[in-house]
Amino acid sequence: MKVCDGVYAYPWTNMMENNCNTYVLDGDGLILIDPGLKRYVPDILDAMKNDGLNPKDISTILNTHSHPDHMDGNSYFDRDKVKLTMHEEAEKFLSQVGGQFFSMFGLEFPDRKADYFTNGGDVELNNLSLKIFHSPGHSPGSICIYWPEKKVLISGDVAFSGSIGRTDFPGGSLAELGKSIERIAPLEIEYLLPGHNEMVQGSDAVKSNFDFIRRAFFS
Ligand SMILES: [Zn+2]
Repeated sequence: MKVCDGVYAYPWTNMMENNCNTYVLDGDGLILIDPGLKRYVPDILDAMKNDGLNPKDISTILNTHSHPDHMDGNSYFDRDKVKLTMHEEAEKFLSQVGGQFFSMFGLEFPDRKADYFTNGGDVELNNLSLKIFHSPGHSPGSICIYWPEKKVLISGDVAFSGSIGRTDFPGGSLAELGKSIERIAPLEIEYLLPGHNEMVQGSDAVKSNFDFIRRAFFS
């Protein structure tokens, strides 16, 4: 579904299956953010077609972090046509504990490396001017992706509607997560698009959501 011009969301609605929300940014070619589990990628591509997007235009995959439920679907795509990027720490995480993690989920360990890293700061991706916030706490290589022009923040598993990412996985830290959340909370955000569950829409609702998170988890 279209969120606003240039931003599309493919939220996961079946709670019985483990998967994550996928997002698409429409620039000079499409950026696919977190394709989720490989077996559901065809469903996402169908939903994209319904929104008037051509899956063949996907030229970049950006992972918010390297947990299997977000990145298993990377391997669906042809590595010659679609470039893969994530934070350097996300790839390091894979090389350290990724094997265990993928087998825990009964998934094949990805043999594909990132074509380049997206570590933080101002980044031009597919001709879009984005800001990347390194956001450790849920996972050491987590990033949040901000598109200032659209006031859109894709928060991965850092902040959800009414909740925060788990910190009991390897490399997790509640204190780090709190700091990461304080870096994104002051941004002007109209659409908070998290890695799981529903999105938060409207700047007041987004502010209230961060206030709730502070009270519930960090006070
Ligand atoms: Zn995760």
